[in-house]
Amino acid sequence: MNHRIDQLLRNNQAFVETQLRLDPGYFTQLAMGQHPEFLWIGCSDSRVPPNHITGTDPGDMFVHRNIANLVVQTDMNMLSVLQYAVEVLHVRHIIVCGHHGCGGVKAAMGEHSHGLIDNWLRTVKDTQQFYWRELSALDEDARFDRMVELNVIEQVNSLGKTSIVQNAWNSGAALALHGWVFDLHSGRILPQTGSIESSAAMQEICKFANGLVGH
Ligand SMILES: [Zn+2]
Repeated sequence: MNHRIDQLLRNNQAFVETQLRLDPGYFTQLAMGQHPEFLWIGCSDSRVPPNHITGTDPGDMFVHRNIANLVVQTDMNMLSVLQYAVEVLHVRHIIVCGHHGCGGVKAAMGEHSHGLIDNWLRTVKDTQQFYWRELSALDEDARFDRMVELNVIEQVNSLGKTSIVQNAWNSGAALALHGWVFDLHSGRILPQTGSIESSAAMQEICKFANGLVGH
């Protein structure tokens, strides 16, 4: 049973050797500290590894992941990561990245209970309800894809409303928010928002969201 774990440790040894061959000072440099330019808020799904799909290296990206890449305003874990990333590390970009085929979004869209996680996914259900006019016109597959996209837009919206992002913008910090969806079928990242760099730009997102309901 442990041979799979042993394999991971052997892989690590190979990683160390490769890195040292490429750059003997690599780990000395890494140990000196981090200055990541990006904060990634993504899904825990094993198929969406942020460094791998964006071609970034250790040290480039501060990462927070949870099921369905949610920005819940009462989530102390997410808020702590966000505050540290913005106020201490001074990241320039925050990316919320969802993905097509997201099991969390799928679970939230269904009628069945999945236990404790139903509570976590509650806000996804709210999003579905909010956009139901648009969603109800789609077939099942298209509705699932669209829900993933709308969920990302909603989370960017939620992110922009946090006191941490608001304070950063009010103090003149250069901080941009981005909403992306990773398409598992093609491997491509599909941007769902532009680069949002101010409260005014956030309003555009709100308008966009509001424009989709009531028609
Ligand atoms: Zn997911």
